Amino acid sequence: MKVIVVGAGVVGTMHAWHAVERGHEVVHIEREAEARGASLRNFGQIWVSGRAGGEELDTALRARELWEGIGARVPGLGFRAIGSLTPVRNELELAVAEAAVARPDAAARGYTLLTADEARAVNPALRGEFEAALRCERDAAVEPRLAQLALREALLATGKYTFLPNREVRDVVGENAVRDDRGEVHIGDAVVLCTGAWLSGLVREVAGEIPVRRVRLQMMQTEPLGEALTTSVADADSFRYYPAYASEALDSLRAAQPQDPTAAAHRMQLLMVQRLDGGLTIGDTHEYEHPFAFDTLEDPYEHLTRVVESFLGRPLPKIRRRWAGVYAQCVDTSRVVHRQRVRDGVWLVTGPGGRGMTCSPAIAEKTADELGW
Ligand SMILES: Cc1cc2nc3c(=O)[nH]c(=O)nc-3n(C[C@H](O)[C@H](O)[C@H](O)COP(=O)(O)OP(=O)(O)OC[C@H]3O[C@@H](n4cnc5c(N)ncnc54)[C@H](O)[C@@H]3O)c2cc1C
Repeated sequence: MKVIVVGAGVVGTMHAWHAVERGHEVVHIEREAEARGASLRNFGQIWVSGRAGGEELDTALRARELWEGIGARVPGLGFRAIGSLTPVRNELELAVAEAAVARPDAAARGYTLLTADEARAVNPALRGEFEAALRCERDAAVEPRLAQLALREALLATGKYTFLPNREVRDVVGENAVRDDRGEVHIGDAVVLCTGAWLSGLVREVAGEIPVRRVRLQMMQTEPLGEALTTSVADADSFRYYPAYASEALDSLRAAQPQDPTAAAHRMQLLMVQRLDGGLTIGDTHEYEHPFAFDTLEDPYEHLTRVVESFLGRPLPKIRRRWAGVYAQCVDTSRVVHRQRVRDGVWLVTGPGGRGMTCSPAIAEKTADELGW
């Protein structure tokens, strides 16, 4: 069988991976010389901790297992089972962490509640002020700027995989075939469109308006910290955004402790992960209204810097990079992904939202199962 995959972000690459794993030939088409979308711009968090119980958590846990296995075979993608800590600073935040630890699925996530000293024993870089920390041992990280490249190298080595960069797919032609902007037609037994947040053009022509929206985020990366940040770190604002933390304790937190105005205005939480070079990737903001800003704003960065410095108890290294990224998210955020048969033999897979890097191996596995690859 021959599978045509369009889009070389993590969702397309993982579809290519599963197809090749199952013995099929893959032609992978990408508009740019290399993927340049959300898959490179993210934290690389394989984030289990905040997922909604049920299908979303099951998908994230399965994906976490797949990432670990693939990471062992492709070390260049930088898989690390580092877990995460969310420090809490007062009784209200602690109550939300306690409610999380009391969830029936807490053990599956590897949730535990640590004292501040226990948290510092796990992550000695956290020398700032906090009372306790929620740990999630199942959280992990990969290197987003390297993962697609490393996976592609491994795919090329199988001899079953062809990468065609610098070709924009413009048309779906009949069944199981696409035409690129050089006029070449690529015919397979199945076509999977993994075109990320590009919802106009090709996607609108073949699928019309789909229940998926675009979300823009601001990010930054520092110079090397000069010491290990042994876990990912989130702040208690993340409780406000992730469904796993919905609880009476969260309602009380919201009522009694308004979010910092900058954080509220930009729908922010702190997420932070150390890159292999020692730098820290730090974010994020969430922008939903169109047209999106084309520039990055300083206020959110200043807020993030304050929060990080308060956890680390030291100044942040110089910021080396700032960027923004856009992901596609199902409007019904309880849906893990938008998977739609748009023509016979042609599938569109998009909209995994802020969990696409985490869930993509399991999303692609499900596509492969459903299509009988
Ligand atoms: C700033 C940021 C931080 C994030 N952090 C995390 C995180 O830590 N953990 C997590 O799980 N998720 C995270 N996410 C979400 C995650 O990055 C995305 O869900 C995921 O990368 C989506 O992958 P994708 O392959 O669908 O899209 P993309 O990576 O955008 O790839 C789509 C590709 O399709 C190509 N393409 C589009 N149209 C065509 C065409 N017609 N012909 C050929 N090629 C085409 C594009 O050029 C692009 O390379 C984050 C997202 C952002 C923006």
